[in-house]
Amino acid sequence: MSPGFQLQQGKNRCDMIRITQIKLSIRHSEEDMINAIAKALKLSPQKIVKYQIVRRSIDARKSEIKYIYTVDVAISESHKEKETSIVKRCRNVNISIADQTKYNFKPSGTAPLSHRPVVVGTGPAGLYCAWLLAKNGYQPLVIERGEEIRQRVRSVEHFWKTRELNLESNVQFGEGGAGTFSDGKLNTMVKDTSHRHGFVLDHFVAHGAPSDILYINKPHIGTDQLRSVIANIRKDIIQLGGEVRFGSKLTDLIIEDGFLTQIEINHKERIPCQVLVAAIGHSARDTFDMLLRRGLILRPKPFAVGFRIEHRQAMINESQYGKEASLLPPADYKLTHQTSSGRGVYSFCMCPGGYVVNASSEQGLLAVNGMSNYAREGENANSAIVVTIKPEDFGSTDPLSGIEFQRKLERMAYETGKGLIPVQLFGDLLRDKDSVTIGNVTPNCKGGYRLTNLTNCLPKFIREDIIEGILAFDQKIKGFAHEEAVLSGVESRTSSPVRILRNEALESNIGGIYPCGEGAGYAGGITSAAMDGIKVFEAIATKYRPI
Ligand SMILES: Cc1cc2nc3c(=O)[nH]c(=O)nc-3n(C[C@H](O)[C@H](O)[C@H](O)COP(=O)(O)OP(=O)(O)OC[C@H]3O[C@@H](n4cnc5c(N)ncnc54)[C@H](O)[C@@H]3O)c2cc1C
Repeated sequence: MSPGFQLQQGKNRCDMIRITQIKLSIRHSEEDMINAIAKALKLSPQKIVKYQIVRRSIDARKSEIKYIYTVDVAISESHKEKETSIVKRCRNVNISIADQTKYNFKPSGTAPLSHRPVVVGTGPAGLYCAWLLAKNGYQPLVIERGEEIRQRVRSVEHFWKTRELNLESNVQFGEGGAGTFSDGKLNTMVKDTSHRHGFVLDHFVAHGAPSDILYINKPHIGTDQLRSVIANIRKDIIQLGGEVRFGSKLTDLIIEDGFLTQIEINHKERIPCQVLVAAIGHSARDTFDMLLRRGLILRPKPFAVGFRIEHRQAMINESQYGKEASLLPPADYKLTHQTSSGRGVYSFCMCPGGYVVNASSEQGLLAVNGMSNYAREGENANSAIVVTIKPEDFGSTDPLSGIEFQRKLERMAYETGKGLIPVQLFGDLLRDKDSVTIGNVTPNCKGGYRLTNLTNCLPKFIREDIIEGILAFDQKIKGFAHEEAVLSGVESRTSSPVRILRNEALESNIGGIYPCGEGAGYAGGITSAAMDGIKVFEAIATKYRPI
C-alpha cells in the first residue's frame, strides 16, 4: 500500500476521492499537503481522515521546482456529504472517485493437462508467469540455465575481476534474468487497461521492493534491492507448489504432428511436456538457433545499438534542477534527436549515479550496459546513446541475421579493448584518435576498461548519427558533448533481434509453446516483460484447468 497518512482515528468510508495535479514546493510540509487537499475539496482539514500518494513526479520546467501529486483521500464519517456529491460540487476535472480496482484474473480453462507446464527462464517474464501458475494450482516446473542469485553474483563479480566468463551464468543469464544487474527502472510505455501493471509493482513490493515504486513517476529498485526481491518470488513459487531448477538449460524440443511432446534439458534429460513458456530473453542465441531448427517461425526485428556515455552526476543534477539539486534525488534525462540521415538517436536506459557494466555472455565478444544501486550513489551518470537498426541493415534476410550483426560489433569491441571495455573521450572520437588520458570524468566501469579508439567499433552510418545526436543533446544539457565525456562500447543488447511468432492464443506455430517476454519480441524492459508473463499465464489458464 503506497504511503498514506492516517490523520485522525475513527473509521473512514470506503470510497476515496482522487485529486490529481496537486502542486507543492519540494520543501513542502505535511500540513501543506493537508491544506492543499482541503482547499481542493473546499472542506476543513479536520474532515480529512487519510490520504494516499498515488503518483508523485517532479516538475523542473520553471525556476521553482515543484512536486506534482495525485492522492486518494478518505473523508471522515462525521461528514454528511457523500464522496460523489463532493466530487459533483467541486466541478473540477482533477477531482474524481478513486478507481481502486486491482488485477483479478480467474482461470477458466477446462482442458486437462497431462503434465505440469514448464517455464523456461527466471527473468521477469518467466518469474511472473510461473508465480501465477503456481498460485493457481498449475505446479509449474521452472528451468533456468544460470545459477541461483547468490552464486550468480559471485560468478559475475569473478568475471568482472578476472575476465573468466561463465557462459551459462553472467549478466544476461541466471536467476532474475538480464535485469538483475541493472538500475531496475520499472517505467514502461505499455498501455494497460487490465491492471497488470499495478499487479507487477504490488508484487515487487510484496516481495521486498521499496514501496515508493508504487507512486514515484519513474520508479526504480536498484540492483542491490532487486536481488533479494527475485529470490523471495522464487521461494514463493516453490511454497505454492512449483519447482525451480538452476543449471538446467532447454537444449531441444521433441515435436509430434505439430505439437510439443517432450523437452530436453542439458543435452541429456528428457521430460514429457505439453505446455512450454519460452521466456528466454534477448541473449539466448543458442536457444533461438535450436527453436529455428525445430521449426518455430522467427522473424528478424529492429533493435538499437550505440555507445554508453558517462558524465559527472553533479553536472546532470545542476543542469536539470539548478540550485535546488541538493534537495532532490540524482537527476535523470531522456533525449531524442532526428539526424540529417533521417534516423532517430536517443538516450536509452539512463542510470543516474550508476556504473557501466561488462554485460557479455559469449567468449571473444563484448557488450556493455548500465547498472545502479537503489541509492544511485555513484559519481557518474550514464546512458546509452543509440540508433535504431532495422532488418534491412542486417545484410541478410536470415531470421537470425540481427544476432550476427550484434556479434560483429561485439567482436570489434572485444578486440579494440583487448578483452576490457573499450573507452574513449568524446573529443578524441571527433578527432578519430586514441584516448591516452582521462579528463574530469573517471570511467565507472565494472569489468575493467582500456583507453583506446572506438571509431571502428560501429559502422560509419551509425557512428556519425551518434556523434550528431550527442552534439545536439548539448543544446538541451550543457556539457553533454564535452570533450572529456567518456564513451564506452558497444551497447548492442537493447532489445531482442528476433520475434518468435505467436497467434492470438499466444501459442507459436508449434502447439503447446508460448513465446514470452523480451526475447520472444513482445516486451522491452522489466515491467513490460513481467506484464507479458502475466498475459501468457492468462492464455494458459484460459485453456487448461489447474493440475
Ligand atoms: C545490464 C542490464 C540493465 C538493464 N536495465 C534495465 C532497467 O533498468 N529497466 C528495465 O526495464 N530493463 C532493463 N534491462 C532490460 C531488462 O532486463 C529486460 O528487458 C528484461 O529482463 C527482460 O525480461 P525477460 O524475462 O523477457 O528475459 P531475461 O530477463 O532476459 O530472462 C531470460 C532468462 O532465461 C534464461 N534462459 C535463456 N535461455 C535459456 C535456456 N535455453 N534454458 C533455460 N533458461 C534459459 C536466461 O538465463 C535468463 O535468466 C536491462 C538489461 C541489462 C542486461
